[in-house]
Amino acid sequence: MTAWQPTDCHAHSTHSDGALTVAEVVAIAASLGTRPSVTDHVSRDAPTNVSSLVAVEHYLDDLDRYPVLRGGEFCWHDALWREIPPSTLRRFTHRLGSLHSIRLADGQFVRAFALELPPSLTAGAYMAAHVASLEALANEMPVDILAHPTLVPPPLRQIDPHDLWTEQQEARAVTALKQSGIAFEISARYPPHERLVRRAAAAGVRLALGSDGHRRDQVANVSEPLAMARRLGIPDDALYDPERHGSRTGAFDG
Ligand SMILES: [Zn+2]
Ligand SMILES: [Zn+2]
Repeated sequence: MTAWQPTDCHAHSTHSDGALTVAEVVAIAASLGTRPSVTDHVSRDAPTNVSSLVAVEHYLDDLDRYPVLRGGEFCWHDALWREIPPSTLRRFTHRLGSLHSIRLADGQFVRAFALELPPSLTAGAYMAAHVASLEALANEMPVDILAHPTLVPPPLRQIDPHDLWTEQQEARAVTALKQSGIAFEISARYPPHERLVRRAAAAGVRLALGSDGHRRDQVANVSEPLAMARRLGIPDDALYDPERHGSRTGAFDG
């Protein structure tokens, strides 16, 4: 029986916008005592080489060569995730869904990395659209984890998240994840505010650790997310681990 190790459910390699090869991610995780994943962007609208069905197969073929969980980070706003056939899907140990772009009430999309918001878009309207998009993702996307649930454009990161998010919006986000069985990622890169994580845990939403690492000093380092989970009293072995808890990809079925 080996001791419990934290699983980093979210890290990038040179298959997308990470700086490290898969072998380097695996080696760094080993040095940190973390179970590694590679979860590169699988999207036609993200910085990645994994942007077609053929490329997805090649990506998974490469990950098969390493002792690493085979993940993928899929953009909700891009259609590629809808096109993955079940036989390919089962090759992923787990999948992340991301709101890299959110949909406004009028149907327009706004990127979650936009350095400026459209002039007429208030913080409140952005957050209303963020939560509505989160609910749509939870309804539509059969993923295991919502990546960085609190990612917002840089101008909104200046606002205290306790003011940016209403408690009602937090409750809606948590309900959507609970009903769809999607885990809430505690991201090292975009740390969520504790009030929201506490609310998710209290509602029975599973929590996942994610470095979202792209560089040597980031990948597989989940010490801050793990510290938050422990502060909230979450047992280590309740943190999402695809091999322990299964996956909606079907990787561990039958
Ligand atoms: Zn992301
Ligand atoms: Zn990522």
